[in-house]
Amino acid sequence: MIQFKNVSKQYADNLALDRLNLTIPSRDFFVLVGPSGSGKTTTLKMLNRLIEPTDGDIYFDDQRIIDYDLKQLRLQMGYVLQNIALFPNLNIQENIAIQAESLGWARKDRVARARQLLSQVDLDPDQYATRMPSELSGGEQQRVGIIRALAIKPKVVLMDEPFSALDPISRKQLQDLVLRLHRELKMTFVFVTHDMHEALRLGQHIAVMRLGHIQQVGTGDEIMQHPANDFVRGFFQNEHAPRPEVIQDLLNEGYGQSTTATATLAATAPMSELAAALQRADQVVVGTEHGARSLKTPDLLDYLATKEAD
Ligand code: ADP
Ligand code: MG
Repeated sequence: MIQFKNVSKQYADNLALDRLNLTIPSRDFFVLVGPSGSGKTTTLKMLNRLIEPTDGDIYFDDQRIIDYDLKQLRLQMGYVLQNIALFPNLNIQENIAIQAESLGWARKDRVARARQLLSQVDLDPDQYATRMPSELSGGEQQRVGIIRALAIKPKVVLMDEPFSALDPISRKQLQDLVLRLHRELKMTFVFVTHDMHEALRLGQHIAVMRLGHIQQVGTGDEIMQHPANDFVRGFFQNEHAPRPEVIQDLLNEGYGQSTTATATLAATAPMSELAAALQRADQVVVGTEHGARSLKTPDLLDYLATKEAD
């Protein structure tokens, strides 16, 4: 269990955290969510003492983290960064095992652990273990960034907006992956995001932050059903306001085939018109600035499926 007790952080004249109180249960998937500048990163980095509080105490398994040996503490706290930052001159298995190496693990144990973790995230070790980081896609590199943090079996995994640079489909895949790893590995996950959707999708418990204060802590359901104040309600509602969707949104993601047929709908028309037209015909031609495209029902269904997953 992790506990923040009246923790404050002052940067020059800026009070970034004001007497924060927070309990994170062991093995929880705990999400800190809030807009930029709310103090999420500061809170997270205090757990591995990359940032020290100005005031207050943080406890990890009933001992003040300040009383831990720093190296021991950091071994318990795996850290996943937003920028993947794999070492470009080391291959994938060396990247994964870098901490294990510094701890003096034997080479064969390091290789075995790296290969096991690669399989666990569906990267075939025979293909990936000896590749260089530049030979992986962004999403693949981020998977390696995640398993690198898990390699020496920390008790807690700290993740600071690890997916914010990814496209929606990779992001969904990696969200599914961390949910699966959380189930399998039985570690505490502390995950920072500014995206309420992501928080609701991942968190067993969610703390909503604003300007250095916790606004509410609860399960996603509790927060949705009983927002503690207008800020939480607004943060949640803005994220959920149905945004006007037009056919162009779908075309932007590459759906449809070029055609020379005559368009019956404009790309600026609402998605609902496309849905209606597809009930009358098995193919609908849409006019865009760059020519016409034909769309079929599976295009619409696929598009909607990825939207729901966001
Ligand atoms: P978040 O991760 O929620 O965006 P941060 O924890 O990074 O928020 O920052 C909280 C507040 O503290 C912000 O106002 C930010 O500008 C300020 N801050 C963060 N790091 C520093 C620093 N090293 N020096 C001065 N101010 C900082
Ligand atoms: Mg941050």
